[in-house]
Amino acid sequence: MRDFSTDHRWLSINTATVRRQHGQDWGLLDILDACAARGIRAVSPWRDQVAAAGLQATAARLKQHGIELSGYCRGGMFTHAGAASRQAVRDDNRRALDEACTLGAPCLVLVVGGLPGALQGHALHKDIGAARAQVHEGIALLLEDARRVSMPLAIEPLHPMYAADRACVNTLEQALDLCDELDLAPAGPAGVSGPAALGVAVDVYHVWWDPKLQAQIERAGHRRLLAFHVCDWLVPTRDLLNDRGMMGDGVIDIPRVRGWVEAAGFAGYSEVEIFSAENWWKREGGEVLATCIERHRCAV
Ligand code: ZN
Repeated sequence: MRDFSTDHRWLSINTATVRRQHGQDWGLLDILDACAARGIRAVSPWRDQVAAAGLQATAARLKQHGIELSGYCRGGMFTHAGAASRQAVRDDNRRALDEACTLGAPCLVLVVGGLPGALQGHALHKDIGAARAQVHEGIALLLEDARRVSMPLAIEPLHPMYAADRACVNTLEQALDLCDELDLAPAGPAGVSGPAALGVAVDVYHVWWDPKLQAQIERAGHRRLLAFHVCDWLVPTRDLLNDRGMMGDGVIDIPRVRGWVEAAGFAGYSEVEIFSAENWWKREGGEVLATCIERHRCAV
């Protein structure tokens, strides 16, 4: 397992972590400047932040600083109410793919969607099986586009508390079943073959509780392990979406999980992704980044 204790070369910042600092209007370009100033070599930006900063301006600033992407957030939201919205979903995901290519992302992260309408507060039906069938179809279609532009897709299983409104893929096993159904990617020795066209993003916040986690990480192997996200699970958790903890402040044994993904051949960035309305978003952005660096060394 890599030693993170003396530097932060494998730290990536998911830019949502410092997106809403109170009294500090950081746009994406400001975040990139702040990361570069602290020797942070990678980020994972969100599409709305890129849209606000401008796609070409973002690409130019990344290049100027020599900052890489550890992923691009996000595509997906495949579940829909009918033919018109099905086409809109596909078009939007194609645009996300194009943006990911322009920015040189290693993968497009997919949050697959829950029951249609639920995120807006009114689920159109209760058939989660039907929603999962739409996800299967949506990924199959997007995979055709993704293969054409050589952009890997990373399915991110979300904690089951989000099954209704954000993602009806809730375990690593379920995500890998989709991978195996839609993409034949024989496992090869680490370092010999590149990433699979379809893989997974392992976010410790979503999967830490799963008794099958270690076995499913082994099953994924290095070709399907496309991204590794870290933060911590606080007790108590006060908000289902925006109360994620800084690494080391909660109950997730992050080094243990990192050991498993690295034993499976993952050698990429540890991406810090913290949504924290009542704590970290209330602090000065530079302080948050400094804390991410410190905790990356001692708690990841
Ligand atoms: Zn994540």
